[in-house]
Amino acid sequence: MSGALLCINCGTPLRRTFVNLGSTPISNFNVRPEDISKPDPTYPLHVRICESCLLVQAEGVVDRSAHFGEDYQYFSSFAASWVEHARRYAEDMIARFGLSEDSMVVEVASNDGYLLQHFVARGVPVLGVEPTKSTANAAIAKGIPTEMVFFGRATAERLTREGYAADLMASNNVLAHVPDINDFVAGFATLLKPEGVWTVEFPHILNLIEENQFDTIYHEHYSYLSLLVVERILTKHGLRVFNVEELRTHGGSLRVFSCHRDAHQSEAPGLARVRAKEADFGLDSLGAYEGFDAKVQAAKKALLAFLNSAKAEGKTVAAYGAAAKGNTLLNYCGVGTDLVAYVVDRNDKKQGRYLPGSRLPILAPEKIAETKPDYVLILPWNLRREIEAQMGEVRQWGGKFVVAIPKLEVF
Ligand SMILES: [Zn+2]
Repeated sequence: MSGALLCINCGTPLRRTFVNLGSTPISNFNVRPEDISKPDPTYPLHVRICESCLLVQAEGVVDRSAHFGEDYQYFSSFAASWVEHARRYAEDMIARFGLSEDSMVVEVASNDGYLLQHFVARGVPVLGVEPTKSTANAAIAKGIPTEMVFFGRATAERLTREGYAADLMASNNVLAHVPDINDFVAGFATLLKPEGVWTVEFPHILNLIEENQFDTIYHEHYSYLSLLVVERILTKHGLRVFNVEELRTHGGSLRVFSCHRDAHQSEAPGLARVRAKEADFGLDSLGAYEGFDAKVQAAKKALLAFLNSAKAEGKTVAAYGAAAKGNTLLNYCGVGTDLVAYVVDRNDKKQGRYLPGSRLPILAPEKIAETKPDYVLILPWNLRREIEAQMGEVRQWGGKFVVAIPKLEVF
């Protein structure tokens, strides 16, 4: 462990481990058949906590272009439920803050325009900021003005010089992905009008700890956030939080509303509620974060014990859902085709490829009915009910479902 590693927020040397998941390949690149003989490059997935500011963070070991390069395949509009989430957000914000044709909405990490399209439909002017070429071009093709750049202080200053000023700024699931969180937040403080509002959504670390969601830890994430730490960072940039909503997305997220320190927004009850919840859990001291690593190791032992005993009994196991989450779990636990035969996924772009690290072949869901495994390990535990319902046929041959998180369960 390097003693020179410094907190990305406050610069304090990082001495404490939150969880160490070892060295694993990048989660969201599936291996093509022609690359099957090449080893997957692996990178440490070691998450630490700053004992000074309590920011939970991972070292940025991967070049950002590796995540957001030409091959980046995640188009937000492919997920119908996420587009609906965005539509409701747009309707809600237009009503709440009285947005009109005289307003300006800026979204950072605007992807393919899945969110801004709903403001455009209501005649509210927008600007997207999106560094990934493929998704930014998809947005532009839909008529959504998009700047193809990384966001931060410099970009915000340039946009301000060009006459942009935002009434509403949105940023969903990007705050945890930025290596320089202070530069990023400074950008919002720069581009926001004096009475403008910034909403930021991120997975809540309280749920990560409480529900043992260690499989949501990826190389793409630089930080794992609490309201407490976000408030501290925003304060440094002259911003203040005035409302917080708890969302069910990504295993439990927060939507934090902030404005300039002197803006007229009054504090809503959601702010006090989430502050109290975090205080009750003890997120303001190191104790709440200690012991997570041991809890994660226990989940690994339980999964391996189950898979090994299934194998010893001659039972077969297949997995469902070729998503990033599953890769963190399988690779941390060292599961390969010796223990799980294959994984199925409905996305036909993934079929025919292999999971990174574990090298499970990705097949069509029909394969399950064909091979009738004794157990189906559901990797996206957040969708366990839907998958159980979809794959009801598994019961017909006496098969069972399994989840590993929050704890091993066979049902
Ligand atoms: Zn710190």
